[in-house]
Amino acid sequence: MPIHLLPEEVASQIAAGEVVERPASVVKELIENALDAHARQIVVRVENAGRRAIEVADDGDGIPQSELALAVMRHATSKLQTAEDLFRIATLGFRGEALASIASVSHFSLVSRPAHQSVAARIRVDGGKIGTVEVVGAPVGTLVRVEDLFFNVPARLKFLKRDQTERQQIDALVTRYALAYPQVRFQLFHDGTPIFQTTGNGNRREVLAQLYDVEISRQMLEVEYEDEMVSVSGFTSPVGLTRSNRKEITFFVNGRWVQDTALSTALLQAYHTLLMVGRYPMAILFINLHPEEVDVNVHPTKAEVRFRNPDRVFSAVSRAVRRSLMISNPVPSVVPPSVWQRPLSTPQIDPAWEMSRQAQNLWTTSEQTGETTVSPTPENLPQATQSPLPSGVLPLLRLVGQVAMAYLVAEGPDGLYLIDQHAAHERVLFERFIQKKGEGIPAQALLEPALVHLSPSQARLLEDEVDTLNRLGFHIEPFGPSTFRVSAIPALLSGADPVQAVRAVVEDFEEDETPLQSEVEARLIARICKRTAVKAGQVLSPEEQRALLRDLEACQSPRTCPHGRPTMIHLSADLLERQFGRKGAR
Ligand code: ADP
Ligand code: MG
Repeated sequence: MPIHLLPEEVASQIAAGEVVERPASVVKELIENALDAHARQIVVRVENAGRRAIEVADDGDGIPQSELALAVMRHATSKLQTAEDLFRIATLGFRGEALASIASVSHFSLVSRPAHQSVAARIRVDGGKIGTVEVVGAPVGTLVRVEDLFFNVPARLKFLKRDQTERQQIDALVTRYALAYPQVRFQLFHDGTPIFQTTGNGNRREVLAQLYDVEISRQMLEVEYEDEMVSVSGFTSPVGLTRSNRKEITFFVNGRWVQDTALSTALLQAYHTLLMVGRYPMAILFINLHPEEVDVNVHPTKAEVRFRNPDRVFSAVSRAVRRSLMISNPVPSVVPPSVWQRPLSTPQIDPAWEMSRQAQNLWTTSEQTGETTVSPTPENLPQATQSPLPSGVLPLLRLVGQVAMAYLVAEGPDGLYLIDQHAAHERVLFERFIQKKGEGIPAQALLEPALVHLSPSQARLLEDEVDTLNRLGFHIEPFGPSTFRVSAIPALLSGADPVQAVRAVVEDFEEDETPLQSEVEARLIARICKRTAVKAGQVLSPEEQRALLRDLEACQSPRTCPHGRPTMIHLSADLLERQFGRKGAR
């Protein structure tokens, strides 16, 4: 084929493809336009998951009749004049592409009336063909109706997911924008049924309650942080409230919903070792910085941004969240009273109850692992008020003994400690691994190599990660079909069952969530430690008990296991006194 210029419609459909991927993209662009036009109220009506129609009405500034035809043309915008403006963009739109793109792949109509016009005007566009402008009656504001999306691009239609999925995407979008703009009243309807609405009274927590439920909204921790360059606000979940994936992690940068894995990583950093492996927090964070600090012109849908000082932004996010986790520290008496009032029931301890100290440990631990992308400094962390101890380490403990073959009882200067032997040992092993990781983990040869037989699919998983394991001090090699020979294990695990340790790893790979490559190692280590740590039900000799206590005292984050569960319950002398009615009234 000789080189030729593409016909206008083909070129515009190609361009439209970048902006309009699915019904939710249309909703996003139209909401952004309404917000840019200072709307106080935005009503979104969706029919048939957006395939039949999408309608967005606002009470914003409107478009003068004389500019209607321009508004639907490509590269026509009221938000940008010069190329320099690109670096100080304060509006959500700026490319002047959305209306043109949407109108080129749908039956499109726009009715608009600015306050100074006594009547409204309407323009229609059919698959990119611009019609004439007619005068109509309508209230101040703008109403865009998009029908039969992709009617002229059947290939696109085929890529749409099930109605339910497309609907969910729209719901997620509208609810997130409603949270980001609580002073705007949002309403969403699917096929005439109201799905979601906000009051526009500016209260974000109320919107949050709409988005999740009242209970979750109540638990979410408020984030409020500001330094010379960036502010971070919003909500993040306490350690006890998690999800199995990252879908509930949302970031807005200067009022714009962005997808940025580095931001998520910074958030997760704040929860480092506080969450169980494979669990993720819920968070919606609003990052604001000077427009010159962000390049928004990176992606056609404007879903990605580039920061001028990414490290500063990421560390602000980490710090902001960590601080909220710390402030959420309940007072010492927060040990749930139910545990002590109903001694026969199984204690349900909320791992959040000693947050302050755990959180204080965070930055030490994360620096130790060398995985930090942020450099938190202690000065930025508020001092934990009740703790007389330096950063979260344990005081010297005096062993009292073992109870129920599962717990150690110890006494410290500030009360009684009940220690879960399994969780504590997990923590000890985990920190040793992490410490040694840098220098190379010494391997210990087995007197007799062990064979591990796996299912074919497990074998494939293990094959993929054999190198990682061998770096961690294992020596594993394929040995016949679906069989592996283990000839050495990390010296740290000496005495552990090698087959158990390898199986633990394989099972980890089988779990549904695929972790990021950078998380694989820490996750594997945590898993191996779990499997090889002493179990509940194991009687420990007094020497073993004492050794475990000493090892735990030496840990950086002795108060949680690597999966985020508490290793101990601390009954302060103060609490004991109050429980026994010696002090205060209860
Ligand atoms: P952009 O938002 O990037 O400028 P669009 O194609 O989305 O480009 O919109 C083109 C122009 O139409 C905008 O610059 C704005 O002036 C006007 N416009 C679009 N939607 C609205 C609206 N809901 N209210 C007022 N003006 C609007
Ligand atoms: Mg726009």
